[in-house]
Amino acid sequence: MNGAPPRRRPKLAVWKFASCDGCQLTLLDCEDELLALAGEVEIAYFPEASSATVRGPYDLSLVEGSITTADDAERIVNVRNASRRLVTIGACATAGGIQALRNFADVDDFVSIVYATPSYISTLATSTPISAHVDVDFELRGCPIDKHQLIEVISAQLAGRRPRIATTSVCTECKRRGTICVMVAHGTPCLGPVTHAGCGAICPSYNRGCYGCFGPMETPNVASLTAQMRELGSSETAIDRVFHTYNAAAEPFAGASGG
Ligand code: SF4
Ligand code: SF4
Repeated sequence: MNGAPPRRRPKLAVWKFASCDGCQLTLLDCEDELLALAGEVEIAYFPEASSATVRGPYDLSLVEGSITTADDAERIVNVRNASRRLVTIGACATAGGIQALRNFADVDDFVSIVYATPSYISTLATSTPISAHVDVDFELRGCPIDKHQLIEVISAQLAGRRPRIATTSVCTECKRRGTICVMVAHGTPCLGPVTHAGCGAICPSYNRGCYGCFGPMETPNVASLTAQMRELGSSETAIDRVFHTYNAAAEPFAGASGG
């Protein structure tokens, strides 16, 4: 009989804040990799997948969603305190998400229009990324995130190394797959030059411009891109609209048109 104690697997927790669940579904969508992952970690808290939960502390927490209520602002502090490492996943968690459009308007106006009984709604005036509230060990961008990047980030965190995630732009992915530049060839406005790589340049491969769902790349030159968009005939309103989507509150997308 082997007397060695069983190997303790690191505890993984997955938390949800204001979000659509799409990034958590990316983890479930890992299919083959998920079985291998489940062999390496103890999935201790993941209500999207199982009602069985294991108490913390947790070795790695993945956090989806933004902070939009006072309760969530308290809860994320508790999550941080219970987590050795904390990684945010997706545009909601890393930049406030599409719900951060409220940051540019009066949230009370939205509430009175959308809800039959506005008095039932308790919400903050802004949607903010997790990093505005607690320390974050790594931010994985995308709406939703890319599953290969997610597996790489989880593997790296568990191995105690830096994730190998490119910080270049979507343009580099177009070049790698041989996609002709939609801006140069067709004059189509495209956020590829300022958007974080990771999707594989899906939109330009279908002859449409990137609308920035992976958020800003490491060193985006937004001023130069918006000048070129004006050259191509985009109005200030059109520039505002294309930047104000899933990563509207991420600097420097937030003030892209200067308007
Ligand atoms: S980043 Fe996009 S896919 Fe992920 S939870 Fe937010 S809205 Fe959903
Ligand atoms: S919008 Fe841009 S970053 Fe998002 S999938 Fe399309 S090309 Fe990729």
